[in-house]
Amino acid sequence: YVTIGQLFEQTVRKFPRKEALVDMASGRRWTFEEYDEDVNRLANALRESGVHKGDVVSTFLFNSSELAIIYFACAKIGAVLNPINFRLKSQEVSFILQDCHPRLFIYEAMTEPHVNALKQEFPNISYWSISPSQESDTISFHDKMKSSSSEPPEISVKEDDLYAIMYTSGTTGRPKGVLHRHREMIDMSLIGMNAIHLRPDDVGLVAAPMFHCAELHCAFLPRVHAGCSNVILHHFDPKMVLETIASEKITIMFAAPTMWNMMLQENLENYDLSSMRYSLYGAAPMAPALVTRLKEEMGMQLVQAYGMTEMGPAITYLSEDEQLSKAGSAGKPCLNHEVRVVRTNENGPSEPEDILPPFEVGEIIVQGPCMMPGYHNRPEATEKALYKGWYHSGDLGYMDRDGYLYISDRVDDMIISGGENIYPREVEDILYEHPGVLDAAVLGEPHEKWGEQVTAVIVKKDPSLTEEDLEAFCRSSDKLAAYKRPKRFIFMEALPRNASGKIQKFLLRQQYAVKST
Ligand code: ATP
Ligand code: MG
Repeated sequence: YVTIGQLFEQTVRKFPRKEALVDMASGRRWTFEEYDEDVNRLANALRESGVHKGDVVSTFLFNSSELAIIYFACAKIGAVLNPINFRLKSQEVSFILQDCHPRLFIYEAMTEPHVNALKQEFPNISYWSISPSQESDTISFHDKMKSSSSEPPEISVKEDDLYAIMYTSGTTGRPKGVLHRHREMIDMSLIGMNAIHLRPDDVGLVAAPMFHCAELHCAFLPRVHAGCSNVILHHFDPKMVLETIASEKITIMFAAPTMWNMMLQENLENYDLSSMRYSLYGAAPMAPALVTRLKEEMGMQLVQAYGMTEMGPAITYLSEDEQLSKAGSAGKPCLNHEVRVVRTNENGPSEPEDILPPFEVGEIIVQGPCMMPGYHNRPEATEKALYKGWYHSGDLGYMDRDGYLYISDRVDDMIISGGENIYPREVEDILYEHPGVLDAAVLGEPHEKWGEQVTAVIVKKDPSLTEEDLEAFCRSSDKLAAYKRPKRFIFMEALPRNASGKIQKFLLRQQYAVKST
């Protein structure tokens, strides 16, 4: 097999009557054979509605079996999937639609309030809704699908054809459209299957957002590839996740650090989590204190993934047996990947040959089989990101002597105080060790004498927590030099996060005007 569609058909042939899909919202269940029939129905419906090979299909959906069906239907006819973050507002979605010109836009009741404005702004796009509606001008996704044949569509799709345009999380600014082809994603899927030793009897839970490549390419796709069943939750809710693990005997799932953090706030004795075999975390930094709690309080076997949309996304994995011996590391490069730490260059991209010795912090750059061919419509950004054939991540980190990668922080987030480099993540990791802290973000604030000073924005778990408590805590830590200690603490109700759970520090900076970006 060389395309995502063929890969899917192979799984269907191997496990026709095995359970493939469970939609917790509707209670519906599919075997692989039934799943394939629905995929074909939709593929044919798309064709009949004028969606041709190379056309973009945007989805504005929460997690759903429909999205799982759209995924392979697009792949089978060579349509380019563009899964849009369901948390975006109409203006942000409008930016994406202007950028990638979809032919079809599929939405649901929960995202509908934003769709009316889009319908007026983009009258040439067709709009289908997956939610039943009384209004006569709504085109029903399900009616379209029902009236089409379940025979496989006959369209030739090649490995170099585009399969998706996925926008980056927009953590550091405007999202960029990453182009993905079939061939890169098949490699990513195989790498994921091996990294977590997937077996056909695994039952995966889809709780993280499916529009994001971490869930889609490191969890959902490898599981379909391996013949596992996928249980889909409409959206992330910690209680619902824990209940579903128990009721569906889930063996494997991915969640971003903030999601694990929310689950740890629940009454864990109430849930039977014994079916869990492996948990995947990643997509954002996770404080070691949280990793330890996950192991101790939830009894989780853990695998970490580090990566970025541009690379498919995973570029390193840290396996369960390395969690303790290499605590704090993001792991070793994926199969056929080369990861380097190189000297940063103030006046331009870092040079791939300028490799740093172990333990010296520099920019993380990478080459591998799943690298994007480029950003959509952004030749300059592409040239910069893929300088000399290496993806320049904008992340800072170092290698140890055994070749394990440690991520310090993003280049943009680094603080320079009195000429010393401070990686906010290091300070955040200490703050997370305080039992009264639920969430922490550390930023640089302009300072006359030092250039920048360290400021911490905190969400309290314990309402009685004070600035003095935190100051004393940081002072008593033997892991935090004086110049790294926060000089100011700001308390907030919640930190601004994007849907992949990442703290949007550029918003915090705007809000507190602590540093111009
Ligand atoms: P944008 O590029 O639009 O600013 P983004 O970089 O957050 O957004 P993604 O591609 O979703 O978009 O995320 C990739 C980034 O997430 C990485 O560059 C890294 O900073 C962070 N990240 C991913 N996995 C991990 C991990 N395991 N540990 C620490 N950070 C991680
Ligand atoms: Mg990025």
